[in-house]
Amino acid sequence: MDLEKVLKLMKIQSKNAPVFKISRIANDEFKVAICAILSSRTRDEITLKVCKKLFKKIKNVEDLIKIDEKELEKLIYPIGFYRVKAKNLKKFALELKRKFNSKIPSKLEDLISLPGIGIKTAKVILSEAFKKPCIAVDTHVLRISNRLGLINTNDVNEANEILEKIIPKNLKTKFNKTFVAFGQTICKPKNPKCNICLLKGFCKYYKKIKN
Ligand code: SF4
Repeated sequence: MDLEKVLKLMKIQSKNAPVFKISRIANDEFKVAICAILSSRTRDEITLKVCKKLFKKIKNVEDLIKIDEKELEKLIYPIGFYRVKAKNLKKFALELKRKFNSKIPSKLEDLISLPGIGIKTAKVILSEAFKKPCIAVDTHVLRISNRLGLINTNDVNEANEILEKIIPKNLKTKFNKTFVAFGQTICKPKNPKCNICLLKGFCKYYKKIKN
């Protein structure tokens, strides 16, 4: 599959999609990490709103260590799983200080050793804070990659491994944002807009429903 062309066509069709830019609200590695943790299973506009409010009060690891967990819960509500995330953020802050001297590490294995950070969140941090090319498999990436036939699995870890291998390094940085925007506008979870989609010729799902 000509992945460069696929990404170009996706970009053309989803040019009006709202773009979630962590850099708009997070100006250092610590804040990027907090945004990435909070954004998991939460709509972008809610993450943006909550992070803006949160960063008025929490500016560094020490602030996060000091804040009361109940107060943190209130601050991050209505983020998805806000109670679990508040607990994880407190543990994350303590471990970050203990293991990494309060500095966000730039290696995947170090990041996932911290509470509340899975592979996808770690990769968002690597990409946004350290500009490292990598794929973060979220719900849009998983769904569209399966529909196109790039992968044939709903296991996030397996999808992650396959995509890291088959996506050329020069396309990795734009891969996530392009897939997310396309998934929000055209290749939606329910009722994908196949009738107007420019990727029909590449798509395994489309070929199947047409036969
Ligand atoms: Fe998604 Fe349909 Fe386009 Fe395939 S043809 S990529 S399923 S919108």
